[in-house]
Amino acid sequence: MAYDPNNIFAKIVRGEAPCFKVYEDAHTIAFMDIMPQAEGHVLVIPKEAGETIFELSDESTAALIKATKKVAAAVKSVVKTPGVMLAQLNGAAAGQTVFHVHFHIIPRSGGIDLKLHAKETANFEQLKALAAKIAAAIK
Ligand code: AMP
Repeated sequence: MAYDPNNIFAKIVRGEAPCFKVYEDAHTIAFMDIMPQAEGHVLVIPKEAGETIFELSDESTAALIKATKKVAAAVKSVVKTPGVMLAQLNGAAAGQTVFHVHFHIIPRSGGIDLKLHAKETANFEQLKALAAKIAAAIK
């Protein structure tokens, strides 16, 4: 499948669609997942176009993982869960629904199940407030 430059994350990279941004550098942007599977669910995307990690340059892949680690540490400190899951889905068969590479940062606590994937939209005021706290905690 060819990369669709009008996918929602490509629009976020170009500033054509809104997001609750928590971090940005030369290669990546991180923002709140609007249908979170847990409180503090953040997505990290490369600015480079690529449907899956296999199309991404090594430079962007390295920057993406570095940014994911940095943002995940801030998420963990703000949401205060004992665990943090990092997930990255490649292809519809793996469950991918937005075809621009991204990492999921999902806080986890033992005994608390994840909410369904991309199903229930969160309260935007709460997402905005959480985004500000996570952004402030990034070192
Ligand atoms: P995946 O299924 O791995 O491709 O994940 C796509 C994720 O993007 C899902 O968790 C969705 O909830 C999330 N999502 C979809 N549209 C938006 C959007 N406009 N802003 C933030 N997150 C989104």
